[in-house]
Amino acid sequence: MNELGIQCGYFDGQSAAEQSISVEFMMDGLVFQVPGGGLVSWSYDQLRLISLQRNNGHMTLGWAEDDAVRMRIKNREAGEQLFRLAPHLKADRPEKGVMKPVMVSGAIVAILAMIYFSYPVFRQAIIMSLPDSWAQEIGNTLAQVSIGKAASCTDPQGLIALQTLTDRLTKGVAMPYELDIRVIDAPIVNAFAAPGGQVVLFRGLLDEAQSIDEVAGVLGHELGHVKHRHPLKRVIDIYGFELLLTSLGGNFGGYSSMLLMMSYSRDDEREADETSLSLLKDAHISGDGYADFFERLEEKQSFLPDVMNFLSTHPLPEEREQTIRERDDVGPTTPALNKSEWHALRNICGSAGRKLDDWDLQDEEIINI
Ligand SMILES: [Zn+2]
Repeated sequence: MNELGIQCGYFDGQSAAEQSISVEFMMDGLVFQVPGGGLVSWSYDQLRLISLQRNNGHMTLGWAEDDAVRMRIKNREAGEQLFRLAPHLKADRPEKGVMKPVMVSGAIVAILAMIYFSYPVFRQAIIMSLPDSWAQEIGNTLAQVSIGKAASCTDPQGLIALQTLTDRLTKGVAMPYELDIRVIDAPIVNAFAAPGGQVVLFRGLLDEAQSIDEVAGVLGHELGHVKHRHPLKRVIDIYGFELLLTSLGGNFGGYSSMLLMMSYSRDDEREADETSLSLLKDAHISGDGYADFFERLEEKQSFLPDVMNFLSTHPLPEEREQTIRERDDVGPTTPALNKSEWHALRNICGSAGRKLDDWDLQDEEIINI
């Protein structure tokens, strides 16, 4: 083995947390111990360069055999050594030849920004015209910083149940992005959608829900945000188009927890609720569970004041509950998942029936369903 072990970051594609690994540069590939797993080798020809920060030489690598995993090399010398061992990566390197497109992107972004903020009528058209890859890159990174060190839940039966629920809700529905839906092991009654098709449900939501139809309503609501590209719109409203440029450099410092703090306009929330009801209806799932969820939020308001500050910008839960209760009759319905599937989903973090005693919400961890 080469004596050079380089400390790098590792993202396993399941959890949002960056794990620390020691990577050895061998003749034909990078060798390292997967956290909690065995020794693996990423051969040089299977590597691709996802991003390179010119200011400090930090690079993010992908691996052809598993598109979800990422390695972050945070050492300029190690990066230069890697370019010598895997010269094909240079083709992706943003140096002279690539500077021009980046600058052109900057000019385009500046023009888009001017039109976007000066002429609101064009906003939706501009949002629709942005490349999906931008939205996905921004979404991946923002979701990661919002989730922090909390792990994704991976119980196999739970994952199947989550997929079953998602498939049922989205059957025949055109979504703008490929969906990536996860449950995060944190005792927060919350869910959010990130730009680019990511939806995150927190384990506290599953623990708190009294029926699978409540979860289906909340998931349908987040899918509504995805369908209408609300997260991307909101991110740009708040942070401007510079974020798109920043994302090209792979540097998202300072945007921590942004998705958790982000609240949509009332119109967007209503639109997401309407979409949820329409998805529930098409899937022959009752909307009563979704209404029940808001009814209980109203009750909790009295003893969970910190959690409810999102109400100042959202439509009131009373109003949302009423709208849902007044919807059209949807005909015969069945529960969103059968009993054993619902049990599996609740157990996706290995935490069935866990109480929320440890619910310790910080001020910024507001509900933004
Ligand atoms: Zn919402």
